[in-house]
Amino acid sequence: MSLHAPLPTLCAVCRGWGHARICGDCLQREAPPHPRCTVCAIRVPAAVSVCGACLLDPPPFARSVAALDYAYPWSGLIAAFKFHAALDLAPALAAVLAAAVRRAEPPRPTLLLPVPLSPERLAERGMNQAWELARRIGSAIGIEARADLLCRWVDTPHLADLPRAQRAARIKGAFGIDVRQAHRLRGRRVALVDDVMTSGATAGEAARVLRAGGADEVHVWVVARTPAPADR
Ligand SMILES: [Zn+2]
Ligand SMILES: [Zn+2]
Repeated sequence: MSLHAPLPTLCAVCRGWGHARICGDCLQREAPPHPRCTVCAIRVPAAVSVCGACLLDPPPFARSVAALDYAYPWSGLIAAFKFHAALDLAPALAAVLAAAVRRAEPPRPTLLLPVPLSPERLAERGMNQAWELARRIGSAIGIEARADLLCRWVDTPHLADLPRAQRAARIKGAFGIDVRQAHRLRGRRVALVDDVMTSGATAGEAARVLRAGGADEVHVWVVARTPAPADR
């Protein structure tokens, strides 16, 4: 074995030895591609491109890509990555999302922005999982990623537990744009990157702020989409 060969590691899903943190067999078995709403990435029947909820009430983002449903085994891996700073999972999760983006072939954004954490939450967690994904995907597919443009003033935990009107009220004012970087947004197609999209309220509010700040179009790229039926 050459000195530069990747070190053997245990697959985080099946615990088999290999050279990837999530092995190829597990990716095939646990992350099969599904037809998804092109707007919000919820799963839809094969012939449908936009779900009923997005047709009735389009969100502020134009397109979404999700690699998989937020369910076993991914929910556990994402929780370990996010809440226990299991950064060794970041390359594998970023690769899963990059592959989903390549499959979906959305119109190409020119800027990737992580959904930010508030300064307090960032200090507590030690990293922003969305940035750990965005910067890796950016370098994998050759798109600039920046963590200094979209800011978050307040965190809004447990948004998904609230009725829809309350979610919208709670998230309002959570995001802002750094005035020193605002010029970078004008006329750009931007993709917001995050680990999970649950209700879509957080991504929707961030997208609204980015569009008000001059972004031409906002997309959402997430590793996992919560598949709940009462989703939005
Ligand atoms: Zn495996
Ligand atoms: Zn939809």
